[in-house]
Amino acid sequence: MTIRKLSPILINQIAAGEVVDRPASVVKELVENALDARSTRIEIQLEHGGKDLIRVSDNGCGIAAEELPLAVASHATSKITDEADLAAIASLGFRGEAIASVGSVSHLTITSRREEDESAMQIVVDGGDTSISKPIAASVGTTVEVRRLFYNTPARRKFLKSDGAETTRVRDVVQRLAASHHETGFTLKSADRTILAYTPSSATARLLDIFGGELSGEMIECSGETEGVRLWGLIGKPEVARPTSKYLRVHVNGRTISDSSMTHAIKEAYRGLIEPNRWPTAAIFIEMDPALVDVNVHPQKSEVRFRDRDIMWRLVNKSVSSTLSAENFVPLYNPKETYQHVATGSQQSFGTGMQSTFPVDQAREAVAGIDLTQPTPMPTILASDDVLQVHKCFLVTQDEQGLLIIDQHALHERVMFEELKARMAEGNLESQQLLVPESFPADSAWLDAIETQQALFTKLGIEISPSGPASISVYALPTLLVSRNVDGTEFICDLLDKLGSNNLPATEEEALSEILDMMSCKAAIKAGDQLTQHELRDLLQRRREIERSSNCPHGRPTTMRLSIEELEQRFGRR
Ligand code: ADP
Ligand code: MG
Repeated sequence: MTIRKLSPILINQIAAGEVVDRPASVVKELVENALDARSTRIEIQLEHGGKDLIRVSDNGCGIAAEELPLAVASHATSKITDEADLAAIASLGFRGEAIASVGSVSHLTITSRREEDESAMQIVVDGGDTSISKPIAASVGTTVEVRRLFYNTPARRKFLKSDGAETTRVRDVVQRLAASHHETGFTLKSADRTILAYTPSSATARLLDIFGGELSGEMIECSGETEGVRLWGLIGKPEVARPTSKYLRVHVNGRTISDSSMTHAIKEAYRGLIEPNRWPTAAIFIEMDPALVDVNVHPQKSEVRFRDRDIMWRLVNKSVSSTLSAENFVPLYNPKETYQHVATGSQQSFGTGMQSTFPVDQAREAVAGIDLTQPTPMPTILASDDVLQVHKCFLVTQDEQGLLIIDQHALHERVMFEELKARMAEGNLESQQLLVPESFPADSAWLDAIETQQALFTKLGIEISPSGPASISVYALPTLLVSRNVDGTEFICDLLDKLGSNNLPATEEEALSEILDMMSCKAAIKAGDQLTQHELRDLLQRRREIERSSNCPHGRPTTMRLSIEELEQRFGRR
């Protein structure tokens, strides 16, 4: 086979494969250009999901006539000039290849006029061939028209979805860009239909436009700061958590990013407040020194690399969790909500097993036989320290606002998780030597984990080392596990599985909370454990002491409150 240099058109088409794969990515590039040109109004028109036409018009700074051929040339950009710029990118674009790529796989026309120009100029690119620009009448700004996308790369055109599906993706892209550019107006039209129309507004108003006005009372403002980084955002109350992460957005310097570590930092802050299979509603905006974040890591610029990911994780997590704890959420027992839980198929909901509607007819029948003139003795009111264990599973007690029903396992798990976390913040966990070391066989992944994670084991109060080429011995375990009679071997095996399979989250905080989670779950009292009065009171006392004790670490509720008002209503007193 002979090696040949590729033609410039082919090079661009290959590049196009990375940068533009569908109308939505073309729209993303063109709107980013319009934003970089400091436009205050951006209009997007689609025909047939963008397959036949994508037109993006802006009122930005425009392009000088003599520079139009450069705008459509590959590796030509006005946004960076040297390496130093590349290390601190302040614009959305910087590679100078988007327009050239789009031009190689479509019929492209750019019409542009600057404020100081008498008329606009136009340049046409046809599948990579550029034709001379000509003067034309148009207002200040730039209009980019992309017709018949992928007409000369049929394989790629075949991968496009229906017009409706492509339009939806474009809508999503525009919404994401609009979220972080509230001062710019956006309209998106498909044929004659207006799909989005956002006027310039405040950051909060824009977000509510995007998320839906029904969330207006459900979002809380959140902010935070560390050196060189500022965070602002709106986060949803636990009730408005969603089954997907679609409403969980992170923006860095005006760019929406997908970053599992940041998403995790937010979700982690909701630990215990929402069920683990649900996602918080939140939009977080991070403004930071561009030198602290590398945006040149992904062809579509949708991922970034933070110089210090741990600092970012902590900032996001702390800002969100302190906002949430200031609100003191306790889930109310609400029969309608419970019913919805069941209907959405949620397995873990505490409400699943509960009766979802009040059996009015049965109640009427039951009440019918009672002679209401007979004085019935009122039950003595529980003093607030009194607590009743029901079916060896639930605890019933009261507080100022009503009746509390508690899941004993969930609560104990939560209490221990918080206590472990607090202890860990002060130093290593307390450790207890085993009278007889436990030895068991180990594979190479486990042995590796033992070698690389000694610091972590010490933190956790675990003493462990290889005791042969394929076996390990445990000499000490966390006191908590020993005192709760937890099977140490089983715990160690689970832990080594996690460590050995690299199944733990990347940052230390995340990994530690996952391990503490595992420990508290194993050590917690179980459903079916009979508790003494002393244990019951002790548990309730600890409940009062920990923050947000109302949900267990897995996010199942620990406590449900039936408010006095609710009771009064149900018994017809209101
Ligand atoms: P990049 O955005 O990475 O610089 P592009 O290929 O997207 O590369 O655009 C090339 C150049 O064309 C930009 O650097 C910019 O100078 C100019 N340009 C493109 N779109 C616009 C626009 N809407 N308004 C003003 N200038 C634009
Ligand atoms: Mg660009």
